[in-house]
Amino acid sequence: MPFDYDDQNIFAKILRGEIPNDTVLETEHSLAFRDIQPQAPVHVLVIPKGPYVSYDHFAQEATEAELVDYVRAIGEVCRMEGVEEDGFRLISNAGRNGVQEVPHLHVHILAGRPLGRMLA
Ligand code: 5GP
Repeated sequence: MPFDYDDQNIFAKILRGEIPNDTVLETEHSLAFRDIQPQAPVHVLVIPKGPYVSYDHFAQEATEAELVDYVRAIGEVCRMEGVEEDGFRLISNAGRNGVQEVPHLHVHILAGRPLGRMLA
């Protein structure tokens, strides 16, 4: 099934500089910024700069350079935020069942409080 990317989504606008963001880290292929409605003391979103809807889309179509940059950017933000000692959670919601609000791939990094056993 082809992936249909909507370039009017909020994160596409952030990447174009049309909407401000609280940047944590910018790399060649990735951007990390704080969630506007944080669910934990640390709540950072990490997105690839390329037009990918979901993890599945990214895994199928991204270049190796984009893949490596993205994985490393997520790890770098974890180090920068100092979350590795007490722990953290990575979440990537996709599609209707995943209740994905913004159709541009993003990984949530959540930390800074006990997050409980539930995934949602
Ligand atoms: P999703 O439900 O798609 O996994 O999560 C989307 C996330 O994007 C939500 O946690 C929401 O608070 C965040 N968000 C939505 N609009 C904006 C925005 O304009 N700026 C920032 N920084 N975060 C946003």
